[in-house]
Amino acid sequence: MTSVASDPTVSPWVGGLLDSFGRKAEDLRISLTDKCSLRCTYCMPAEGLQWLAKDRVLSDEEIVRLASIFVALGVNSIRLTGGEPLVRPGVAELVARLSALDPRPELSLTTNALSLADKAAALVSAGLDRVNVSLDTLDRARFAELTRRDRLDDVIAGLHAAAAAGLNPVKINAVLMREINLAEAPELLEWALRAGFEMRFIEHMPLDAQHAWTRADMVTAEEVLTVLEPRFTLRPIGHIANAPAEEFEVLDGPGRAEWAADQHRVGIIASVTRPFCRDCDRLRLTADGQLRTCLFAHRETDLRGALRAGASDDELARMIATAVSAKAAGHAISAPGFRQPDRPMSAIGG
Ligand code: SAM
Ligand code: SF4
Repeated sequence: MTSVASDPTVSPWVGGLLDSFGRKAEDLRISLTDKCSLRCTYCMPAEGLQWLAKDRVLSDEEIVRLASIFVALGVNSIRLTGGEPLVRPGVAELVARLSALDPRPELSLTTNALSLADKAAALVSAGLDRVNVSLDTLDRARFAELTRRDRLDDVIAGLHAAAAAGLNPVKINAVLMREINLAEAPELLEWALRAGFEMRFIEHMPLDAQHAWTRADMVTAEEVLTVLEPRFTLRPIGHIANAPAEEFEVLDGPGRAEWAADQHRVGIIASVTRPFCRDCDRLRLTADGQLRTCLFAHRETDLRGALRAGASDDELARMIATAVSAKAAGHAISAPGFRQPDRPMSAIGG
């Protein structure tokens, strides 16, 4: 079998995975499962979804092989996500195998943190570098209503375990909804500052399984700032290269003397109203082995099919490079005729 890593002469893309707009793909999100232990109302219905059959889901072996090809092609950051990645057995072992890749990618995880308290230490020992935890409210009843599970305490325990295991910064992602938790945004930020976590607010995107998203209902980045600015003094830091969040330094606000970390930041991810597509360096591998070059893509590249049919590393690398070269300029959510992709966020890998 040809090894992409060891034979650069077979790889016309040695300069990296470039698309036709000059963007270089360096960040791969791997969905470990489409299943989830929560049922966030803005993400999936109460009854869950039609889960992938087990034999369609990539094995650890297949994930590591594909990841090694991506890394040889210039991917330097891998984020594990889902569904809920920690419902998959053996994630720490998988992290250890990914951290042994050469060159070693930065390894991160996006999780609802229900089982993070039990797993954080092992994940960090295995090589996990960073974690993002999703938490939309600190109110127990609201959490139970929003996620349809009464598990707020587990998430808080998971956050503290991540910090205790040495992950820094621990980032928190919240999706705000006008009638549900928008008014709580300042409280969430103050709590995160006191606890030493980095809060980020994300605009809701039209990727919900129920197709209930409407632009009018979406809380915009502008609206989030309107709610935060009467309470906090924010100084824009601007966009960090290839990062979707607009970052702000929090100079002052409630409880200032008791804020924990020395870096006080908040991020706002305006994927809909101020998309960062022009700088997007992301690729996504679904749990069933389909490569997507955009969350909103309608086209997928079947890496699992090729891999199971016996494709060599070089053939898989060529498929990846071809897919990347055809990456669209942007997501076009605001264009007339926008059509939501068939797969919801939880089945793509958020
Ligand atoms: N289950 C894990 C979690 O919740 O962190 C990982 C997968 S989840 C799909 C990843 C992130 O996507 C979460 O922060 C979640 O809040 C966010 N999310 C889910 N549906 C979304 C949507 N339609 N628009 C924007 N963000 C969404
Ligand atoms: Fe599960 Fe994450 Fe979707 Fe919530 S946002 S239902 S935790 S996949």
